[in-house]
Amino acid sequence: MTEETKNSSPASSPVETPPGGAGADNSSSQTEHQSSPDLSTGGSPLKASPVSVYDRPAVRTGVNLLMVVLVAFTAYLLWQRFSPVKQQASGAAAGADSLAGSAPEGTADPSLLPTMPPVFDASVVGISRRSNPITLIPNRPRTEVIKYTVKTGDNLFDIAEAYGLMPETILWGNFELLQDNPHLLSPGMELNILPEDGTYYQWKEGDTVEKVAAEFNTTPEKILEFSGNNIDLTDDDDGTYGIEPGTWIVVPGGSRPFRDWGPPAISRANPASAAYYGAGHCGEVYEGPIGYGSFVWPTVDRTISGYHYSAVHRALDIGGSMGNAIFASDSGVVVYSGWSDYGYGNLIVIDHGNGWQTAYAHLSSIAVGCGQGVGQGQVIGGLGSTGNSTGPHLHFEMIYNGTKPNPMDYLY
Ligand SMILES: [Zn+2]
Repeated sequence: MTEETKNSSPASSPVETPPGGAGADNSSSQTEHQSSPDLSTGGSPLKASPVSVYDRPAVRTGVNLLMVVLVAFTAYLLWQRFSPVKQQASGAAAGADSLAGSAPEGTADPSLLPTMPPVFDASVVGISRRSNPITLIPNRPRTEVIKYTVKTGDNLFDIAEAYGLMPETILWGNFELLQDNPHLLSPGMELNILPEDGTYYQWKEGDTVEKVAAEFNTTPEKILEFSGNNIDLTDDDDGTYGIEPGTWIVVPGGSRPFRDWGPPAISRANPASAAYYGAGHCGEVYEGPIGYGSFVWPTVDRTISGYHYSAVHRALDIGGSMGNAIFASDSGVVVYSGWSDYGYGNLIVIDHGNGWQTAYAHLSSIAVGCGQGVGQGQVIGGLGSTGNSTGPHLHFEMIYNGTKPNPMDYLY
């Protein structure tokens, strides 16, 4: 578009557009044309021109002004609609900050504040009393390890969630009590609650920050920069930063493998490998049925009672009544049958001969012995609560080539 057409278009287009837009707008353009001659008959010399009233500079300025005022008014309405929310939020943030020590002022426009209190005055006490304790916690990160006393009905996941931690952190923070076994959680137990996810470590003679960081898959900086460890950063002659043996330190972001107290992979070729595991171990090399590679639900009750499968519990806890039938999930040979020394009580392990084993723990009774062949769905014992168990349930594990996958992915 040239400079000339650009300049002329504002003048000509309002006139040309009504007749030009002939299509659907015929009726409206007609009414405009009818009114326009009426105006021109008034005798005013200005009206003689066929050009519409919008072309007159005074009217145009007026219309433009009106548009500006309208836009400004709309903006004002929008601002008024949304600004109280913004002010409330910044007001709350300022309140929280002031409690934390610094109170940045000036973000809120004081002109709107007086309208708020009269409206909410009656309820403001009730609201603030409930919301303050919750909203203030994240503003002041905890740096100390605190204690929590386990109550009846608690489980690892609930406790972890209440403190915003991973369930792993509860186990890592309490190895002496829980020994990586969520089943050992019991009412009255005093747990260490770490301030953030990671491991808890008691310093030993000869340890260095670098060595400990490597052991728990994290960096020396994370250990050193964590203020709760009270480390003297200037004391770095020997890599211990003055940490005395016996001192407990938090290893933020640290992790380590869990100790698995469950039965090891016991195959029909090496049942004696489980000799250390308890009195139920078997001795010889066995032959017998090979499994189908499909697995039936191992008891009559289909509810989960206690722990689902997770990184800290690679098994299912299935509910039921004392003595409920326990079924062989697939065909195979019994390679462990009897008492276990690692909290699993009366235990049966079946080797299915195809890389799979299944384990049935806490049984009240055992109906099959070492080396016995069993068919899929055959009753092998009764549901119980022996070993580390707080009530009747079946702790069921599936083992495949040494790993323990989620039974829910395989059972039907
Ligand atoms: Zn379990």
